[in-house]
Amino acid sequence: MTECVFCAIIAGEIPAKIVASDDNAVAFLDLAPWQDGHSLVVPRRHIPDVLADGEVLQECSALVAHLGQQLMTKLGASACNIVSNAGVDAGQEVFHAHIHVVPRYADSPGLSNLKGEASRSLEEVQEKLLSE
Ligand code: AMP
Repeated sequence: MTECVFCAIIAGEIPAKIVASDDNAVAFLDLAPWQDGHSLVVPRRHIPDVLADGEVLQECSALVAHLGQQLMTKLGASACNIVSNAGVDAGQEVFHAHIHVVPRYADSPGLSNLKGEASRSLEEVQEKLLSE
């Protein structure tokens, strides 16, 4: 079993609600969502955070853009926050680089409401995001 939880998800060793992927990165729903559809985009290779080298943000950027569009068209989000915590003092808890893609809705706007409460189940959100 891989020690890093996100490497284990990428390897299919532990379950996750995967919502998109490409050759460089995988996107899955955050287990403790701040908003309905809150997702994490993680590079396939293990690297501790997005500042650890000059390539990792680029490896994730296409999937972040794709997922942001999907969150708007399929979940009805009107905006997104793109956040990455790099380092303990930034609040990073999982040391495999990841980018939070957080859909935002018109009824709860602004940075002060970023960490809200999700109302839909992860299953429902995944189904909507994977629908044609
Ligand atoms: P950070 O504070 O930026 O390191 O955020 C780590 C995020 O990973 C948190 O929002 C957690 O809820 C999320 N998380 C941790 N373990 C899992 C998991 N197994 N599946 C999905 N999300 C996870």
